[in-house]
Amino acid sequence: MSETSPKLRAELEDIPTYRPGRAAASGGRVAYKLSSNENPYPPLPGVLESVVAAAASFNRYPDMACAGLMDELSERFGVPLAHLATGTGSVGVAQQLLQATSGPGDEVIYAWRSFEAYPIITRISGATAVPVPLTVGEEHDLDAMADAVTARTRLIFVCNPNNPTGTAVRRDALERFLDRVPADVLVVLDEAYREFVRDREVPDGVEVYRSRPNVCVLRTFSKAYGLAGLRVGFAVAHEPVAAALRKTAVPFGVSAPAQAAAIASLRAEDELLGRVGNLVGERTRVVDELRSQGWTVPGTHANFVWLRLGERTAAFADACEQAGVVVRPFPGEGVRITIGENEANDILLKTAEQFHRIL
Ligand code: PMP
Repeated sequence: MSETSPKLRAELEDIPTYRPGRAAASGGRVAYKLSSNENPYPPLPGVLESVVAAAASFNRYPDMACAGLMDELSERFGVPLAHLATGTGSVGVAQQLLQATSGPGDEVIYAWRSFEAYPIITRISGATAVPVPLTVGEEHDLDAMADAVTARTRLIFVCNPNNPTGTAVRRDALERFLDRVPADVLVVLDEAYREFVRDREVPDGVEVYRSRPNVCVLRTFSKAYGLAGLRVGFAVAHEPVAAALRKTAVPFGVSAPAQAAAIASLRAEDELLGRVGNLVGERTRVVDELRSQGWTVPGTHANFVWLRLGERTAAFADACEQAGVVVRPFPGEGVRITIGENEANDILLKTAEQFHRIL
């Protein structure tokens, strides 16, 4: 056999592979997965039924245009059909945005630490990643991000709320930032956790985009709507951007069961958002309790909390796992903990209390 392997793009060499949150242990022990910001509630019966019904014809390709879902989204958000594009999760849509805007020689700005897919999909596109450190308060440093814009900048991600810190950008700060960004640079407001926001000062990107042709909003059915395993996300953007997204989409990327589930979820929105309300209540309980234990917890607007543990990150993650909850460690930096079932949150709080006592 020859030693020569097919030529691969040099950019791929040092790109890390996306690391999913670890699964909860199986084998009789109670274990809860708080590592992937998923929704802990099982599918609603009506949503499940729609998926089962759609699965009956999976010998056929799905509707590539996602027409039924697009109609529902257009109505629900009050945006024209031409301003919508769907994809395989919002991470799929984010990758389509990079393919549509950026290549070798171009620059992509994002806060760091933020969603771990940003550096990966940026580098896959061949563009140069320009990470801008978060402030000491774990927030986007929008002034520094605007300062980082050059003639090569093509796209800027603003993750609002930010994964993994949970912090959010407020309306005034965002508008000031957008005023500074050149009109030919695309600003992507990644609002994967929008439904968990309760602070009125945190703007709804769909309102922001209306008067700003260079703003694109990303939303997903994976978190609040509980469809992570079905892979449906979408973008709201002005026509040239939305049209480019349809060109860069993988054909038939959103399956018929996924389309059916997303439509059924929009129709069952009251019930699903009620569940989100319960999770927000649990979030308040977890944050308050952690703070009263003595932890520094950044205010979170999403379905997770962030503890900056530095060198003690791995030890904390191990202690959680021993206790029966799997969290998401970022070695040397901190731990992201998804708000889960009440019992899971109880275990987490108990473990955190014991851990803090021995600090
Ligand atoms: N954006 C952010 C900020 C996220 O945290 C995630 C999921 N971890 C995504 C996008 C992607 O979610 P999905 O592809 O499931 O829509």
